Amino acid sequence: MGRRQFDIMSPDKRSALMARIRGRDTGPEMIVRRLLHGSGYRFRIHAANLPGRPDIVFRSRRTVIFVHGCFWHRHDCGLGYTPKTRRQFWQNKFNGTVERDRRVHEALTASGWRVIVVWECETKKSLALARRLAKVLGPAA
Ligand SMILES: [Zn+2]
Repeated sequence: MGRRQFDIMSPDKRSALMARIRGRDTGPEMIVRRLLHGSGYRFRIHAANLPGRPDIVFRSRRTVIFVHGCFWHRHDCGLGYTPKTRRQFWQNKFNGTVERDRRVHEALTASGWRVIVVWECETKKSLALARRLAKVLGPAA
């Protein structure tokens, strides 16, 4: 790929490409983890002892983050569409996921945890996401 081709790519595409070249995982969860880590936050991942096994856990802040795929968890964005075939099958699957999310959320908040959901589509605008998370989480130190 020529320099020019690289320059005319959108920043998102460019960073996705660079990440691939570096051999790093570009999945939504990894994006959020790297972003938080880069901002100086310390956290645990995949806390099996908490309901729903949250993706990211800030014990001292009593806050957890779930990074949700927009399709499976039914985000109200373009990615949360319903496939045209086997609609009932998909609908049941989606209902199950949404219901499970609701129960997990309830169980966590009932025991004093704050629950933050980061949507997959948000990870494509990492600057805005970083701002939002800093606002909810407070200073890193
Ligand atoms: Zn979304």
